[in-house]
Amino acid sequence: MSNLDFQPANDRYAADFGDRALLSIPPTRKLIVVTCMDARLNPSEFLGLKDGEAHVIRNAGGLAKDALRSIIISQRLLGTKDIVVIHHSNCGMLTFTDSALRSKIKEAHPGDTAISEAVKGLEFGPFANLDDSVRDDVSYLKNNPLVLKEGSITGWVYDVETGKVRQVA
Ligand SMILES: [Zn+2]
Repeated sequence: MSNLDFQPANDRYAADFGDRALLSIPPTRKLIVVTCMDARLNPSEFLGLKDGEAHVIRNAGGLAKDALRSIIISQRLLGTKDIVVIHHSNCGMLTFTDSALRSKIKEAHPGDTAISEAVKGLEFGPFANLDDSVRDDVSYLKNNPLVLKEGSITGWVYDVETGKVRQVA
């Protein structure tokens, strides 16, 4: 089976599409979830979110800074209020440093000055402590003047061993 062979699955999905065509753009629970792109995480399932209820913004690590553009659009144009930041145990972001990844990229393209120039100073946002990374991201959002403060901003850790979330901020 090819990676692009998703037609059968999509046929089944579309056959059972129900009344999803009636969903509106603004998330009904006025909720933003910022979390990691890790393939093991299924935020809609582990948080019980239905289609149309929340914006789930995902990137490597679930970093708030990386999600800022989407958060602003979500709040200012689509009416969301509460923000939930969820990082997770065994995250890949705990396993490397900026300088190590920069070196790896440069070593893959020896002598390529465009690459070495492009990667210079690029920050990938790895973190050394999981709970601290969540607290830092919550503080970042609470202190960012562009983020609306009418809803709650909380931080959580998802455990890939148990599927449980626990609040840390
Ligand atoms: Zn991760």
